[in-house]
Amino acid sequence: MIERKQIEILGVPVDLVNMQQARQSFEELMSKEGCSLIVTPNSEIIYNANKDIELKSILRSADLVIPDGIGLIYASKILGHPLQERVTGIDFLNNTLDWLNENKGSVFLLGGKPGIASLAAEKIKQAFPNLIVVGTHHGYFSSEDEKEIVEMINSSNADFLCVAMGAPKQEKFIARHKQNLKVKAAIGVGGSLDVWAGAVKRAPEFYQKHGLEWLYRLIKQPSRYKRMIALPLFVIKVLKSKYTK
Ligand code: UDP
Repeated sequence: MIERKQIEILGVPVDLVNMQQARQSFEELMSKEGCSLIVTPNSEIIYNANKDIELKSILRSADLVIPDGIGLIYASKILGHPLQERVTGIDFLNNTLDWLNENKGSVFLLGGKPGIASLAAEKIKQAFPNLIVVGTHHGYFSSEDEKEIVEMINSSNADFLCVAMGAPKQEKFIARHKQNLKVKAAIGVGGSLDVWAGAVKRAPEFYQKHGLEWLYRLIKQPSRYKRMIALPLFVIKVLKSKYTK
C-alpha cells in the first residue's frame, strides 16, 4: 500500500501527488473493498469548505484528494511543502479512463444538462474502445429521485462513477450514498462532461501550461468573476493561516 503524503491547506489535507502517483493511488483504490471517494478541490472549493462544515468533513474523509488548480500550488509553496505539479480534474479523469480502458473496466457518467452525459459517453467510447460506459444520467434531479439513481448505478455494475454536477453538489451526492454504492470509486469532476461532450471548450494549451485556465474561463464567462474572487481570498487566508500559527 502506498503511504499517503499530504499537506493540510486551510484544514483540508491534500495529497502531495503528481499525475503518475495519482494514477497509482487510483489503481490501488480500485482494488480496495467498498466505494472510495476521490475529490479534486481547487482553491475555490477549499475556500468554500471553510464556510461549509459538511463539505469540509467530506473533503477530509476522501480517500484521494487531487490538487486541482494553480491556487493550491501557490498555497503549498507558502506553507513550505510545495506540490510537485497541478493535477487538473479533467486530466486526472482522462487518466482514470485510460486506466479503465487498459483494464477493461466500466464507468457510469452522471451529471450535466440532459443529453450531455450520453454525448460525452459517445466521445469517450471512441477515445477508449476497451472501456465500457455502462450508463449515463443527467445531473438535474430532485432528492426524491436519488434512490432510484443509486439503484440504476448499482444495477449497471459500473466499476467507477463520475459525478459532474459541480462542487459541492457532486461531493455531497457521493458522500450521501457512499455506503450504498457498489462502484469501487466515485469522483466529482465539475464541468468535465461538458468538455467531453464538446459543449464547453477547454482552455488552449498556452493557458493550461501557465496555470491560467481560470483566466480563460473568466474571459469566456465573465459572470464567473464572483466565483473567482475566491482565488485571491484563498491565498490571503493561507498566508494568514501560516503567520497566525
Ligand atoms: N450541474 C448538474 N446538476 C446541477 C447543477 C449543475 O449536473 O444541479 C452540472 C452543470 O450542467 C455543469 C456542471 O454541473 O456541467 C458544473 O460545472 P461548473 O463549470 O460549474 O463546475 P466546476 O468545474 O467549476 O466545478
